[in-house]
Amino acid sequence: MKTIIKAYGAADAKADLKPMSIERRNCGDDDVKIDIMYCGVCHSDIHTVRNDWKGSKYPVVPGHEIVGKVVEVGKNVTKFRQGDLVGVGCMVDSCQHCASCEEGLEQYCENGMTGTYNSKDKHLGGHTLGGYSTSIVVNKEFVLSIPDTIDPKATAPLLCAGITTWSPLRHWNVKKGDKVGVIGLGGLGHMGVKFANALGAHVVMITTSPDKSKDAKALGAHEVLISKNMDEMRKHKNSFDFILNTIPVGHEMDPYIALLKRDATMVLVGAIEPLKPFHGGGLIGGRKRIAGSLIGGIKETQEMLDFCGKHNIVSDIELIDMSTINDAYERVIISDVKYRFVIDMATLKD
Ligand code: NAP
Ligand code: ZN
Repeated sequence: MKTIIKAYGAADAKADLKPMSIERRNCGDDDVKIDIMYCGVCHSDIHTVRNDWKGSKYPVVPGHEIVGKVVEVGKNVTKFRQGDLVGVGCMVDSCQHCASCEEGLEQYCENGMTGTYNSKDKHLGGHTLGGYSTSIVVNKEFVLSIPDTIDPKATAPLLCAGITTWSPLRHWNVKKGDKVGVIGLGGLGHMGVKFANALGAHVVMITTSPDKSKDAKALGAHEVLISKNMDEMRKHKNSFDFILNTIPVGHEMDPYIALLKRDATMVLVGAIEPLKPFHGGGLIGGRKRIAGSLIGGIKETQEMLDFCGKHNIVSDIELIDMSTINDAYERVIISDVKYRFVIDMATLKD
C-alpha cells in the first residue's frame, strides 16, 4: 500500500535538513501521483523547520510550491492524465462540504484543511510530508493545471507566494490607478509587486533594503520607499489605498498604519505571530483597517495560474541543488533572496 521514496527533512528544530527516506501512499481511486520536478522554498518552510510557530511535527519535510509530471491517476480521475504538468500548493485536502469549502475557500475549511506538510495524514497516519521529495500522491481536487506557456521551474513559487499575494489583491479589489504598497521584497513581495502592477495599480515597494531599489523597479514598482527613512515615510502619509504586508516577523505597525488613506486597508500575510502593540488612534483617526489573509482557494489558485499563463507572469528564481538547501535557508533569513529559491528535484534523484 505504500512506497518508500527519497526526501530531505529536519529531525528537530535545531537540525540541518538532511536526506531521508519517507513513505508515500499508493495512488488511490481519487488520487494523482506526481513526480516532483521543482519545489520552491517558502519562508514558511523555515518557520516550520525551526518551530517558530510551535507545534511542528518531526521529521519536518517541507515544500508546498510543487510542480511536477503526473505519473499515475486513480480510476475516478478524469481531469488529469499521465504526462500532464501539474502543481500542488499548501493544501492537499479539506472536508469539501463546510460553508468555506462550498465557497471554494478550502484554506479556511471549518473542519481544518490538510496542509501539504505538518498536518495530520488521514491515509498513512502520522503527519503529512511535503515537496522536498521525489514524488507525492494528492487528492485530485487539490491538483492544479500548469499552463504550458510558462517556465515550470519559475511557476513553482506561484503555488504559495503567488496565490498568497494574488488572493488579497483580488479580494480587496485592487484596480487601475490605486496606490498600492507592498512591504518586504522577498518571495511573496516580489509576486505582490508583479500582480499589483499587472492589475494597473501605482505600485510602491516599501523595503528595508535600499540596494533592492533597482530590482523593485524592474519587477514593476513605480516608486521605492525605504521604510527606515522617516522623512520619506512622512511624505507618503495618508496616501495608500491598499498595503500588502509580507514582513515575516512581529514588527512595529504604527509607521505603516500612518501610510494608509482614510478607509484604506493593510493586509497582513507574513507575521503569523504576535505584533508589537500599536496605537488605536492610528486606526480610529482615519477609519483605517488591518486585515489578514491565508493563501487562497483552489479555484482562485487556478484562476491565478491561468492569468499568469496569459500574461506571462512567473517568479524570479535562483535554481538550487537539494544539497545546498541549508545555505539557502540562511540567505532567506538575512533577506538575501532574489527572489525565490527553487529546488531542482533532479538533484535528489540517483
Ligand atoms: P522572504 O522571502 O524572507 O521575504 C520577506 C521580506 O520581508 C524580506 O526579504 C525583507 O524584505 C522583509 N523583512 C524581513 N524581515 C523584516 C523585518 N524585521 N522588518 C521589515 N521587513 C522585513 O519571506 P516570504 O517567503 O516572502 O514569506 C513572508 C512571510 O509570509 C513569512 O512569514 C511566511 O511564513 C509568510 N507566509 C504567509 C502565507 C499566508 O498564507 N499568509 C503564505 C506564505 C508565506 P526587504 O529586504 O525588502 O525589507
Ligand atoms: Zn509558503
